[in-house]
Amino acid sequence: MTTGGGAASFDADAWTERIRAGELATIARAITLVESTRSDHRRQAQDLLTRLLPHSGQAHRIGITGVPGAGKSTFIDGFGTMLTGRGHRVAVLAVDPSSTRHGGSILGDKTRMNRLATDPNAYIRPSPSAGSLGGVTRSTREAMVVVEAAGYDVVLVETVGVGQSETAVAAMVDCFVVLMVARTGDSLQGIKRGVLELADVLAVNKADGNHVDEAKRAARELADALHLFEPVTPTWHPPVLTMSGLNGDGVEELWATIQRHRHALDATGELAQKRADQQVEWMWSMVEERLAALVREDPHAHREAQRLQGEVAGGRVPASAAADAIVSQVLHRPPPGAATS
Ligand code: GDP
Repeated sequence: MTTGGGAASFDADAWTERIRAGELATIARAITLVESTRSDHRRQAQDLLTRLLPHSGQAHRIGITGVPGAGKSTFIDGFGTMLTGRGHRVAVLAVDPSSTRHGGSILGDKTRMNRLATDPNAYIRPSPSAGSLGGVTRSTREAMVVVEAAGYDVVLVETVGVGQSETAVAAMVDCFVVLMVARTGDSLQGIKRGVLELADVLAVNKADGNHVDEAKRAARELADALHLFEPVTPTWHPPVLTMSGLNGDGVEELWATIQRHRHALDATGELAQKRADQQVEWMWSMVEERLAALVREDPHAHREAQRLQGEVAGGRVPASAAADAIVSQVLHRPPPGAATS
């Protein structure tokens, strides 16, 4: 079935077949399609994703965060190569809403993962540069469906600690790994408020050369600090490891830990529940985002919102009443584009 519009050669059935056969050019085109915000592309993307969805969900989804310089790309390069060496097919995706701002260092950049970039069993996709976190998150979640349907059985999602990007990635993976570095002094670099609560596994990286003892000490301190937190589930207490992404020390143990985490959650049914909850939560966040977009795009609602903003700021109209008034503006109109399709 061929549909008209933006991508003239788009054929959802044919694309599905080619993606399932692992054809790289079609995988790349499909991800470009899901990244697009054009309404005709969105329709095509939904069409495609509906077909791919039954073939997705088999992969082990692993999130990896750490401040710039923590060693993420070095680690992913070595870790991914170890996994492909064991017969896995590895996809690397990235969530980096800042990538448009500081051009150059885009997460998931192939030049930062030399070995993996030329590995026939790996697929690396840099972060989309679509400004908002919501947009980047949506693209990445949908790209995940594409690569899983293509048979990649380990999906690594890389992110930096920018804004809420860690929360967004933790909400789309099975296991969230936080990389930290212990260097010269008392505290670990790269611990942000809130990120510890998201972590399933923590690793003090760059535990090599003269820094092994320092890293081990930092890991012990961190493990002690973690005891203060109520674990998210009694099934799993986030462990703290040390490793060196550079020379590979501890990387196998990290993989064993990530697998143990999966098996533990699988055995209790928590993994399936976590994934189901993630999808439902995601649906509601899309609903909120779409409604907000409708307000922005509808000239009447937008004008009314602008006016009411002043009233709310001045304390003359309650925020809740203003929200009701704005939403009712868009609800009385058909969504943009509905009349033209
Ligand atoms: P990213 O910004 O988190 O992706 O970090 P990179 O992987 O680009 O690494 C930043 C710098 O740290 C580079 O100069 C790497 O060579 C170095 N580096 C990365 N991993 C390690 C490690 O395990 N040990 C040491 N000593 N250096 C590392």
